[in-house]
Parts: sequence; C-alpha cells; structure tokens
Amino acid sequence: MITIPSKLPGTNNSIFSVMSRLAEQHQAINLSQGFPDFDCDPQLIRYITEAMKKGLNQYAPMAGLPALRTLIAEKMNAFYAANYHPDTEITITAGGTQAIFTALTACISPGDEVIIFEPAYDAYAPTIKMLGGIVKPYELSPPNYEIDWEMVKKLFSVNTKMIILNSPQNPTGCILSEKDIKALVKLTKNTDILILSDEVYEHIVFDGRKHQSVAQYPELRERSFIVASFGKLLHATGWKVGYCLAPELMMKEFRKVHQFNVFSVNTPMQAGIAKYLKQSDQYQLLSPFFQQKRDVFRSLLSETRFKLLPCSGSYFQCVSYAHFSDEKDTDMAEHIIRSYGVASIPVSAFYLRNTDHQILRFCFAKKQETLEKAVERLVKL
Ligand code: GLN
Repeated sequence: MITIPSKLPGTNNSIFSVMSRLAEQHQAINLSQGFPDFDCDPQLIRYITEAMKKGLNQYAPMAGLPALRTLIAEKMNAFYAANYHPDTEITITAGGTQAIFTALTACISPGDEVIIFEPAYDAYAPTIKMLGGIVKPYELSPPNYEIDWEMVKKLFSVNTKMIILNSPQNPTGCILSEKDIKALVKLTKNTDILILSDEVYEHIVFDGRKHQSVAQYPELRERSFIVASFGKLLHATGWKVGYCLAPELMMKEFRKVHQFNVFSVNTPMQAGIAKYLKQSDQYQLLSPFFQQKRDVFRSLLSETRFKLLPCSGSYFQCVSYAHFSDEKDTDMAEHIIRSYGVASIPVSAFYLRNTDHQILRFCFAKKQETLEKAVERLVKL
C-alpha cells in the first residue's frame, strides 16, 4: 500500500462538508453551509445560456474576460473611488477561496508569519501551513469580537509577512469600522506587511453602515490583495466565480500562480455575468434584501432560548447558548441536527485551538418559509 506523508496532518473534511452531509443524512433544515436555498435571477441564466449558444465555450484569457474586468474596475471606482486597471490589476478567479489560495501561494514562503483574526474562515490557516508559513491567530471574543490593535502590534515580528482581514466577517457578521482601518493604516505604515482582504460579503452590510474596503485607503491599497465573490453577489455560490484585485506588481505574481493553477475561469459564466451586471442594480439591492431576512430571522429566533449576537453584515447569524447548557458547541450542533432537524455550524471550528464559547452560526440566506420552519423546530429546544 502506497502512502504519502500528509501536507495537512490532522485535517479532515471541512466543517461545511461535514455539517451539510449530516444535515442530509438526518433530513435536517440546512442552515449550516453558507448558500442560498433560492435561485438566482432567471435573466442571468438566460444570458449565460445565450453565451454558450453563441459559442463562447473555449478558454477565456488567463486574467478573465476584458468586459467583466472593465465592469469591475468601474464598480471599484463608483463604490470606493479606487482605480484598478482592468489589464493589470484585476483577475477573475474560480471563486473566493481560489483567490485566497493563489494570493497566499504567491506570497508566503517557509517561516513567514501571517496574522489572522479568529474565529476565521477555515481556508486561511491550512493554506498558510501548507506553504510552510506560520499562523499567528488573534482570538477575538464574543459578543462583539472587537480588535484591540495594540494586541495586533504585539503579534508583529521580523517575520510578519501578512495580515488577513475579513469584513463583513464570516462567521461573526461583524464589520471593520473606519477606526479599525485607521489603526491598521498606522500599524502597517513604514512596513512591508501585506494584506489579504477577504471582502466577499462587501455588498451585504446592514443598518445603513458602510463597508470599509481597503481599496478606499491608498496606504492599504498599495499592499493589499482584495478578494470578491460573484457567488455571494448573484446567489450562485455553486458557479465558483470571483475575482482578485491588487496593485500591478503584486498582481503579476498572483497571475504567475493563477495560470498554473486554474489557467482561466469558465468563459460563458463570465460573459453572462458581465452582460447581466451591465444592466442590473444588484449591488444596491443586496443589502436591503438580506437585511429583511436578517430581521425576520432575528425576530423569529427571539422566541427561542438562544441569545442573539449582533449581526452587521454577511448572511450569518450567531447565537449563544452558554446560559442554558455547557455542552460543547460541536455536540450541541450535532444534537440539534439529530433531535430537532436543524443544521448549524459550531463556531469553535473557526479557531485553530477549537476555542469554544458555546456559539452556533446559522445561515439566513434562505427562503422565509425555510427560516420559519427551522425556528418552529428550534423553539422546542
Ligand atoms: N463560505 C461558505 C460558508 O462559510 C461555505 C464555503 C465552503 O463550503 N467551503 O458557509
């Protein structure tokens, strides 16, 4: 029997695959993995079908279709007054996770340290480790998960290569404020520290708050990769189309890796998305659309025993049960699937040390009836 030494010893299937499978096994309502249970706009599907029928079925240029990159450049200008050149600073990727993987691969060498804020999306740490990098986690605490930037400074060393940001944050739903960004500007000034800013939920921000993109701040823009996702924007997570933005010299390195990783992203999707975005105001519609879902979900959940944590963005609502049970969150999540038929994600899965604050994450990117049915079950808990 041939075995290979594992690059990721101790790593199993991601928590999203595990919980979605459990949900299926128990025919539970799946509020675990973050994806909508409703379809995208049929018009978008028509445009993609049209592109296929027109014969747009061969390789796209390595960096992506120019029409789509131009639209992204226009959007960055309109939303963040940021200039990104479509030819040299924007690359279409096979989803956000691939952009993250590629940006890290382009930058991280053995011994490099990367600061991440936990709870953190589960793709960052394994990728850093695979590259021989060292993960420096800063564990944030509920309910507000605020960042003390003095603590971040304490994590700095001569080997600090990168800081990974994620706002709106998965899983907490917290967002970075202008104050956070200003602190970050000050902290990274006169350093070579890179930033990977995962902004895939940038258009899902609530209560009139504004998404703070690092693109808006020239001092951060010059050192940042920004990751974005059409899956989140268009309710089509399964298409796996996203993009990465970075200043030219950084993007050059990104593309060196990208071309040998995916080479290019599927053509008809890019053509269809470009045509659709040209005439849709999806960017403006998304926040009110999900805010309504958040409000409905929170108001339904208020009838349960859970305590609701704040949610300023993303499509995730975290809840605490620490006041009525000291069961581990992984056990609680499994118990709720088996006995009540609702799937969630235990937030300890987002900490390297599996720190357990007895918090569960629910995805509310679901039809109202799904949310109602789920909470009908959760009130029995
Ligand atoms: N981003 C989604 C979530 O947090 C799922 C991603 C995945 O399944 N890898 O649930």
